[in-house]
Amino acid sequence: MLPKSLKAVPLPDKDQTDRFTINPELVAEKSYKIVDPDNQSIWGYIAIDNTQRGPGLGGIRMVQNLSLNEIMRLARVMTLKNSAACLPYGGGKAGVSLRSFELTSGQRSELLEKLADCLYELPDYAPAPDMGTNEKDIQIIHNNHSQKLGTEKHSRGGAGRPVENGGVPIDDWGLTAHGLFSSIKVLESLDPKLDLSGSKFVVQGFGNVGAPAALKLQEAGAVLVGASDIHTALWNPNGLDAQALNKIRKEPGGLSNYLLKVDKKFSLEKLDWLLEAPCDILIPSARPDAITARNADRIQCRYILQGANTPSSKPVEYYLHHHRNILSLTDFIVNAGGVIGCAVERLLMMDDSYAEKVKQAGVKTYVENLIDKTISKNVCETYSRLQNNKDFIFRDAAWELALERLNTNEVWL
Ligand code: NAD
Repeated sequence: MLPKSLKAVPLPDKDQTDRFTINPELVAEKSYKIVDPDNQSIWGYIAIDNTQRGPGLGGIRMVQNLSLNEIMRLARVMTLKNSAACLPYGGGKAGVSLRSFELTSGQRSELLEKLADCLYELPDYAPAPDMGTNEKDIQIIHNNHSQKLGTEKHSRGGAGRPVENGGVPIDDWGLTAHGLFSSIKVLESLDPKLDLSGSKFVVQGFGNVGAPAALKLQEAGAVLVGASDIHTALWNPNGLDAQALNKIRKEPGGLSNYLLKVDKKFSLEKLDWLLEAPCDILIPSARPDAITARNADRIQCRYILQGANTPSSKPVEYYLHHHRNILSLTDFIVNAGGVIGCAVERLLMMDDSYAEKVKQAGVKTYVENLIDKTISKNVCETYSRLQNNKDFIFRDAAWELALERLNTNEVWL
């Protein structure tokens, strides 16, 4: 049963700072639980990690078994991502814990209206699409806020909306995948051991990030040998057809509808086995902690391209780097394509002269060029810091870069 309304109730950070293991600097500026005020049941969480550069920009996640911890970790990644990309935003994240695919479209719209009412009270948070949400969902929130403000021209209510509503549709245009592809192309130019043509790659989570990333890599001559979604995991060392998978990924049953040849097909409880498949590039593109101590010894790739946010933790990445010789390209550097698109959309809405400049180039072309420029520069810079400090892993160098930018007012839009 859907709640009659939803309300954001501030959470005290005392509970977290009282723990011996929490560094106070890692506590979000503000965090909230999303509750049904009628019975205080918890529907989700919101974390606004840092607003030093601007409102906390980050997606809304609608998945099951969501915790405050997941949302806070993701909000921290957004702070680092928006800083590293020199966007005028801090980091934020929101999540509603449910099986969103079980909602009817009417229930979904009703829930989003309630969430929009709740988010309207938090001007420091700027929503965007994330796992389980899409452009149309953000448009519902935007419309709700337009009604409250009496105008459609405002910087509330989120970005990543459909193009026909003046948005930059980050999923429809595959913008995060565009950035992932830029990253791996730049790495190819820096690392003589990487040659994309003929490289074998695996995508965990064939969704709005994983699917377009697979299409781009396949087009560049790499071979998709493994792909998974929440229904199944498929393996074929001679290649899967990314286009065929893309056609069926949104059907009921998703990738289990794939009819072409596979060598192995894993069921729900064995989905993670695909992460251990031999390949050159592994692209985790689903929930946090796909790679942990439980499987770090069995991962067989040479490079990890972090499509997902927090697919592994720093200690695990140390182990992979120093003991397994696996280079893992950090989430907040390589998957920034989506937020760059969102930041462009928000400025298009508010600044007519910027809008004129962007429209002259064509919005999609402008955004893709900006993603290429930003992410290529950041991968190059992080890689060079990594080469200059033998104690660093990629994440350390990325962290150093993001923190430096957090303390500047530089904006790349
Ligand atoms: P999505 O909902 O479109 O796709 C997620 C995919 O993962 C789905 O195919 C789902 O079935 C699959 N999945 C879920 N659990 C799985 C599991 N245990 N094993 C295998 N597959 C599983 O979401 P998305 O927008 O593609 O986001 C994916 C990841 O990328 C998230 O971590 C998100 O934070 C991150 N990300 C997304 C964007 C964006 O632009 N959408 C930007 C940056 C980072």
